[in-house]
Amino acid sequence: MSDVRRELRVELGERSYPILIGTGLLGHYDLTPWVMGDRVMVVTNETVAPLYRDRLDACFPGKQVDHVVLPDGEAYKDQETLTRVYDALLEKRHTRRTTVVALGGGVIGDMAGFAAACYQRGVPFIQVPTTLLSQVDSSVGGKTGINHPLGKNMIGAFHQPEAVLIDTDTLTTLPEREVPAGLAEVIKYGLIREPEFLAWLEEHVEALLSLSPDALAEAIYRSCACKAGVVAVDEREGGLRAILNLGHTFGHAIETHTGYGSWLHGEAVGLGMLMAADLSCRMGLINEIERERVRRLLQRAHLPARPPSDMTPDDFLRRMAVDKKNVDGRMRLVIMRQLGEAFVTDEVEPENLRATLTHFCE
Ligand code: NAD
Ligand code: MG
Repeated sequence: MSDVRRELRVELGERSYPILIGTGLLGHYDLTPWVMGDRVMVVTNETVAPLYRDRLDACFPGKQVDHVVLPDGEAYKDQETLTRVYDALLEKRHTRRTTVVALGGGVIGDMAGFAAACYQRGVPFIQVPTTLLSQVDSSVGGKTGINHPLGKNMIGAFHQPEAVLIDTDTLTTLPEREVPAGLAEVIKYGLIREPEFLAWLEEHVEALLSLSPDALAEAIYRSCACKAGVVAVDEREGGLRAILNLGHTFGHAIETHTGYGSWLHGEAVGLGMLMAADLSCRMGLINEIERERVRRLLQRAHLPARPPSDMTPDDFLRRMAVDKKNVDGRMRLVIMRQLGEAFVTDEVEPENLRATLTHFCE
């Protein structure tokens, strides 16, 4: 039955909202307190709709619920597919009092959120994330948007949801690689700011991989709380929020080298965090025992330990040089002062960076 195990509030003044985490929520939990009008437009995709659409409808008793079912995949996080959401809203005569609901992973969450931010200059929305990555990452922070042919996530808006409903039962139907990929972002929170959570993860990584509801509720709660804490200090990415990019500069280099899709984002970030740990060790910030702890945890989480075999240090450097964090031509990287404390620096010695890259590429 419906069981909310953990609940937290993302504190953003009048844009604050709750995140409800539990099991059996889809099909039972009443979401109508977060719906101001009589109508709801559910945005989902063709993979998730047959699994969860009917159960989600039951969360809106007394409301008129419409659906728009999009094709599945990052390739469809584009302007053309977004237009289909506006078409559905207009054809069914939805007004400013409608509520948009995102049912799916991060792709659907980002697109539905952006549609809600733009439709009639902004309507409320609710997030129902169904991948581990979207539950611990994209559903917190208010970033929404789509890709442009010239760049990922280049068109978007900040738009906070009314509520986030996380039913961990949805993870049971995920493709096998998606859980480790989501765990990479969970481990990231431990590494950047939460040493106690990191130790907790070292005890519970197998329980998480086997989808224990108690372990999942705890890990998702602590991850969302960590991201919410960072976002509350820095809603629009002035400073602190950059630490959320631990492992991402290395990871993006892998994702672009291999072409988006063959490595999952979380897999690339997982290896990126190991590379950041290695670099932090070479810079004398963390010691070898700590680096080994990172390696061991990522390995137990079934994340890759080596880059694609055809990738060279120069491939990394070339891709990393175009990262968004770089300022005035200086490479900015997130590294660790100790496990559980990350920071951004533009003072990485090129020799240390090259030594790390060479170590992983040999
Ligand atoms: P995704 O949305 O593509 O989902 C992965 C796959 O799992 C898809 O095929 C999806 O249809 C399927 N799926 C989803 N839920 C399922 C379920 N319960 N059972 C079976 N299959 C299911 O990928 P993702 O990893 O969730 O999200 C990645 C996207 O999130 C990227 O576009 C990224 O840019 C974005 N993102 C946004 C933020 C943010 O702050 N807004 C943060 C991180 C990532
Ligand atoms: Mg990420």
